Amino acid sequence: MSPAAERAIVEAAAAACGYPDDQSLGLRRKLAEELDVDIDNVLAGNGSSDVIYRLGAAMLELGDNVVMSKYSFNLLSIVTKMFGSELRAVEMDRYHHDLQAVLGAIDDRTKIVYVDLPNNPMGSDVADADFRRFVSRLPSHVLLVVDEAYLEFADPEYRHGTIDLIREGRNVMVVRTFSKSHGLAGVRAGYAVGLPEMIAGLAVAGLPFSVNTLAQAAAEAAVDDKDFLARTVELNRREREALCAHLDREGIAYVPSQTNFVAIDLGSRAGAVVRSLEQSGVIVRHLAGYGLENFIRVSLGTPEMNVRFIDALTRALGEPFS
Ligand code: PLP
Repeated sequence: MSPAAERAIVEAAAAACGYPDDQSLGLRRKLAEELDVDIDNVLAGNGSSDVIYRLGAAMLELGDNVVMSKYSFNLLSIVTKMFGSELRAVEMDRYHHDLQAVLGAIDDRTKIVYVDLPNNPMGSDVADADFRRFVSRLPSHVLLVVDEAYLEFADPEYRHGTIDLIREGRNVMVVRTFSKSHGLAGVRAGYAVGLPEMIAGLAVAGLPFSVNTLAQAAAEAAVDDKDFLARTVELNRREREALCAHLDREGIAYVPSQTNFVAIDLGSRAGAVVRSLEQSGVIVRHLAGYGLENFIRVSLGTPEMNVRFIDALTRALGEPFS
């Protein structure tokens, strides 16, 4: 994490005997300034998972439905079922969101359309022109939730100007997190940007004091530490390039990534490779849980970790396979 965020945590610890600011005013003010929106457009959450949970708690009832791609960050799908709503999971188009198919699944009872851009677990994004066409065709009764957890890692052509849509008064909510490019996953801070009435609805759907004092302080400091963010994004880009160059040399298929992880297609060997990597102390995600038996998802680490992964993968692929 940013050294400034770490210092902010240590300093804030002195005041952590009292309750946190329940409104997260300092953090929300800073984010509002940064994004050029009003403070009423911003909600702070205990990670962006908290925001996603609140979406379900505030909006979903029996008989409603939520539309998203089959392979997406799966928390909202769990929350949808928890609140008795129907999950409409649409097929992807070669591991990219098929926005036409998403539109086709919407009906009168659709409350939320969720797209993670870039996508987890595939790491893919969509062309900006396709995204704009999609937004222009969305019916107005549907809330579009764009989860931008990995936005900072994406190339500039994949910045979709989602905050502008909110400034224009569109029924859109942007969800972001400090867990990824800011390296604060263990501290728990995320936020939503949306129309004031939607933000007010989510504000009452959470537990009291959900964003703790240390998280608020760390996130505020992280917003200001632009150098740390730039260095992290650059390091990730270099390491992602190096890993993909290795996979290209070895003829191993993968989905081009706009994130800090890469989805790699190992065919029928994926499960065996995951177990072998574990023996080497390298933990990656087998995407079998998504129905993607052939894929693993590898989060990029430090340069040393990535070398260790490549060595362990080479060994695993060299092992006899039956
Ligand atoms: N959104 C996406 C797309 C994610 O991949 C994740 C975590 O992996 C989250 C949201 C939740 O992140 P957090 O609760 O740490 O902010």
